[in-house]
This record gives sequence, structure tokens and C-alpha cells, in this order.
Amino acid sequence: MLVKEILRRALSGLPSDGTESVHGEFGLSEDWPRTRPVVQAYLTRTDTPAELRALTAALAAHTRLQNPQAVLDDILGTLLERIDEVALSPRYTHAHLSERLASAALLPMFGFPTRVRNLYLDPLGQLTRSAREPDTVDRDLDLAISSFAPGGTVVKDKLVHTVHGVLDLRPTSRGHQTLPGLHPPLAELNPLLLGLCGACHAVHHPMPEPASPGQHDATCPTCGQATVRVLDAREPRHFYTDGDRDDYDGHIEYMGRSSRPTLAVRGDPDPTSQARNATLTARTEELLTHNDAGGRGGYTFTPHPTLHGVYAADTAITPAAQTSSRARRVALLSRRVTDTLLIRPTTWPAHTHAPTSTVDGRAAWYTLAYTLRAAAAAHLDIEPTELDAGLYVGPAHTGNDTGHAFLCDRLENGAGYATHLGQPGPFQATLAHVQAHLAPYWHRHAPDCDSSCARCLRDHANTTYHPLLDWRLALDMTRILSGDPHTPDLHTPHGDHPNPWAALVTGAHAPIPAVLTQLGYAPAGLHPHVPTFTTRTRTGDRTLIVTHPLWTPDHPHLQAIHAQIPNSHEVREVSALRLIRRPSDAL
Ligand SMILES: [Zn+2]
Ligand SMILES: [Zn+2]
Repeated sequence: MLVKEILRRALSGLPSDGTESVHGEFGLSEDWPRTRPVVQAYLTRTDTPAELRALTAALAAHTRLQNPQAVLDDILGTLLERIDEVALSPRYTHAHLSERLASAALLPMFGFPTRVRNLYLDPLGQLTRSAREPDTVDRDLDLAISSFAPGGTVVKDKLVHTVHGVLDLRPTSRGHQTLPGLHPPLAELNPLLLGLCGACHAVHHPMPEPASPGQHDATCPTCGQATVRVLDAREPRHFYTDGDRDDYDGHIEYMGRSSRPTLAVRGDPDPTSQARNATLTARTEELLTHNDAGGRGGYTFTPHPTLHGVYAADTAITPAAQTSSRARRVALLSRRVTDTLLIRPTTWPAHTHAPTSTVDGRAAWYTLAYTLRAAAAAHLDIEPTELDAGLYVGPAHTGNDTGHAFLCDRLENGAGYATHLGQPGPFQATLAHVQAHLAPYWHRHAPDCDSSCARCLRDHANTTYHPLLDWRLALDMTRILSGDPHTPDLHTPHGDHPNPWAALVTGAHAPIPAVLTQLGYAPAGLHPHVPTFTTRTRTGDRTLIVTHPLWTPDHPHLQAIHAQIPNSHEVREVSALRLIRRPSDAL
């Protein structure tokens, strides 16, 4: 608010260009070099400091702000440089400076529809020639990249419309002018490629050079493997249809698939606080969602022969050999700036870890994220849908600790939940909620749930991750964050409750020994607390060790078992988490 008022006062003498922006009118981004000196002159006027101190005190009067003048000093010290950055950055797409500053969280976002994307239902010719208000369906950008995906259908008033491409429209006195439907425009190279690592699951945006769109083997800056898929992902403005309206015959609305929101690798996680054994980093982040047409790298867009900025998408599964040299394959991207909290254990108990390159490790992070989301929602008395959750993989120089769980606000620019949870008190209360309320219930439903279900961790928001979620692992991860120094295992009771893994692995009738017997394994009895099995394969003898999903290979129990196995045996270590989901991993 303060930034907005400073800019309004500084620029109040300037003539307006008449366009009304919902965020207040501070001119076009490209005019910033001309408006900057005006703002600078205002800030250096002799009476400005007193005026702004009074303003700050007035704005802070009914807030819990501890030291409003320090906030003012911070703003004044960095304001011009921060606006420079936003005005010149290729990351922001809005023509108006005020909208850019709102996207960058420098100005308040009032929930005005800057992220609303239209699907124009009228034929193209009618759109450009007619001055009347066009017929549209609208969606938030996050949803638009899937429900308005080219080739998809949208139903309005019992008529079915098929999405054909992207454009932007600006009203003029005689109809509408067309502008580029993608940012950056199709004719330009995309300076911010999106890289998705298939090994460590880091997301890179921008993906550093050298990398080219469509490449599948770019080197990952986080893990060093040549496993990064590179996408040319661009933000769409609005969408148009093929102009036909078909009768609705009962088909449901087509939804192209888009990714869950992710966080790109960014600088050092600079921890902001510590709660028990949890290192917390609260910061403002850009959440990325993309639609790459089901792994095909995006949609092939071709510029319209006469209408500037109108890009038609080839929706055939295998597009004819590049129809035009000006065509490009582009994934649809949505970016949303919001408050985010990164969470990881400060220290791991001996011989435990959760590398993001393994199924067990990713299961630990997603499980932790959705457990904290459920507990935080209960603690804050809000709907779980107010929070998003997921896995963040950090930069390489954080050593082995690249994995984090994250929570973030669903609303753009945040409702403040993630920031609040990043303080020691609220975070400890969230962990306490898991122990006091979720854990007893989960223990009770153990006979009915060997991994996760709708009664513990599964809901609509985390459908993509249902196979990875596990309430047993949730208990181990939250006990580690709470400061329990003991290495989690498969047999030690959890206080008054039995060890949750024991029922899966102990006794001949437990699910894991039962399925291993069916696969031809016999118990080997090499360790009192770690189940071991042997089988004879066509190539020789094999010993299978059932491990805890968080154990590292140097765990003493595993070392002790290895010492007893003859050299001629093939040894396989598979976690209880993987065996219960995919017994064939034992083969
Ligand atoms: Zn990687
Ligand atoms: Zn369950």
C-alpha cells in the first residue's frame, strides 16, 4: 500500500493517457525511463521525508507492524532499483507498469482480473471487424492453460466450441486490433526456457545455456545428470475458437492436463527461522504451472497469414512436418507470485536421508508437504484448498540437502498463511497437531490402509501424488522435524502405538512376506529387526533386504546383513514402501 501511495504522490502531476488500470495508473513499463526521474525528484525533495513518515504512521496505525519507519526506510532505499528490475525484466508481460508491479508483489493485488483469460467464441473475422462486446468464456490463467488448451472443447449455452489458438485483442473505434497471443511473441526467441530434470526433479526457469527447446538430455545444474527436458514455455494472453458452434451432445468439457504448481530452483535458501528440528525458509516465490500437451513439448503454433499476433495451433497428434518455418512448438505457462514456506529437517538422524532422485525420497517430501498442509489447515481453521503443497529441489551447492517440502498460499500475492506458518510458534503448533490429532487416528485405521487413502492423506488436490503418499512415512518425517533423534525403523514402537511398519513386514501372514512367498522367496532370518529373504533365480542365488524408506546404504543393520551374505549372492535392497506398492520390484 505504501509503495502505491508513494508512486501516486510522486506522479500525481503527470498527464494520464486515459487508460484505466485496475492497479492505479503509473504509465507503461516502457515509459519508466521517463517517469523514473519524476519519482526520484519527489523522493529527494526536502519535505518528502516528513510527509512519508506521517503517511507511514497513518497506514500502520491499525496493523501489528512493529517498526513501520524501518519498513519505510527499506522501501525508500530500494524502491527505484526494484522498479528498474521489474520494468526491464522479460519475466513480466503486462504493458502497464502498475500491473507488473502488482505481479511482482510490489503493489497490492486487489483480486482484480489481471489473470483472467478469455476464450473468444466469435469467428476471427467478426472479432476484428465488430466493435460490439465479444462473446466469451473466462478462466483464471492457471485453469485456462488446461481448459482452453488447443483442440479442447468448451461448452456454453448448450453449444460446443473448439479451441483453435491464441491472440490478444485491444478495442479500437472500428472493431478490435489483434496483438501477440503469446509472451514473448512467436517471432522472438524465448529467453526463459523451462527445464524439467527427470532424475532429481529440479525445475529450472530459466534453464541455463546451452539448452534448446525440445532437447531431452540437457545437463541438470542441480544433479549434473543429462536428464533435463527443455520446454519453450510461454504465457498465453487470450484464446479463440475455430468459429464453429456444434450442438452439445452430452460430452463433458475437455480438460487438457497441466502440471501441478512447482517452484523453480532459485538462489540459496536463506533460512528465516528454526522450529525444533525444522529449518524454515519463508519467501516470495513464483509458482509455475505448465501444459506441454501430455509430454509432447507443447502445441505447434503458426502465425496467422494476415492478422498480427494471432497464432493457430496444429492440434493433430503428429503435426505434418513443420508446415511453416515460422511455426514453433510452445508449452503453455502460468506464473503466479505468492508467499511460500520451504521446510526441511535441520539435521537428519544417523543413516537417514530423502534424496529427490529416488521414489522413496520423493514419497517422503510429498507426504510431508501434504501432511503439513492438512495439519496447518486444521490449525489455522481454513480449507486445505487455501494452501498448495509440493516438492522443491534447490541448487546444487546446498550439498545433499536439495530436497524441501513446500507450502504456499493459493491466492496470488498470498493471504499470509505460508508466512504465518513460517514462524516457530505456529509451525510447532502444526507439528503438534499431527502428533495429537492425526497420528492416533492414522494408527487406528492401520488395518484398512497399507499406504494412503481418503481417510488419511488423499484428496482431489493431490491426485497426481496418490501413489507416493504414505501415512507411515508421514509419521516418521514429522517425528524427525519434531526433533526425535532416533533413526526411524521397522520395529520400534511409537510410544503407546506399535511401529506402523511392523504390521506390514512382521509375521508370515503380513502382506509383504505373503507376497514375497508367492514370488518364490523364503525367509532368510539374517537379522532380528530387518526382514530378509532368499530365492534361486536362473542366474544364481539372490538375497532381498526389506529396508526402511529413509535408510541410507551405510545403515549398520544393512552392513551387518551384507557381512553374512555369500559373495556369490546377488543382493537387492527394496524399501517396505516400494514392496507394498509394486511387489515386482523384488524380481
Ligand atoms: Zn537433476
Ligand atoms: Zn489411509
